[in-house]
Amino acid sequence: MERTFIAIKPDGVQRGLVSEIVSRFERKGYKLVAIKLVVPSKQFAEKHYHDLKERPFFSGLCDFLSSGPVLAMVIKSPHVIKYGRKLIGATDPSKSEPGTIRGDLAVVVVRNIIHGSDGPETAKDEIALWFQPKELV
Ligand code: ATP
Ligand code: MG
Repeated sequence: MERTFIAIKPDGVQRGLVSEIVSRFERKGYKLVAIKLVVPSKQFAEKHYHDLKERPFFSGLCDFLSSGPVLAMVIKSPHVIKYGRKLIGATDPSKSEPGTIRGDLAVVVVRNIIHGSDGPETAKDEIALWFQPKELV
């Protein structure tokens, strides 16, 4: 059974999209195994996005992720890593298909409301960064 890490970023929480987004995963049939609100520090955001540290937008991205509450969750189901990212849609909401979370609910890449792990290794690392084992049911 696969597990993936999903986060509703500060813009999604601030806009009141938590229930809309969580319900999309629940209606699909994915099992929630952990969920909590966290305000990450910038240092924590830099750990989360460490793969992107050479990119010009890295500092702004980490400032943004640490700007307010994030809804962190772990979901479990077969194929959830890859298919979960299909439900999320392309990184840039101007290219995300309608019907996807970003395609329906976001407009610009710097405010794309949600994060999903991009592979089995990152899923494992991100779950371990955001959650203690005892927080997973
Ligand atoms: P995420 O990791 O947040 O799920 P992703 O895997 O679709 O998104 P990544 O390439 O990992 O995309 O980029 C991480 C985040 O960095 C994106 O979600 C977006 O908020 C931001 N980002 C990506 N590309 C750009 C860009 N060209 N300019 C500004 N911000 C960007
Ligand atoms: Mg990514």
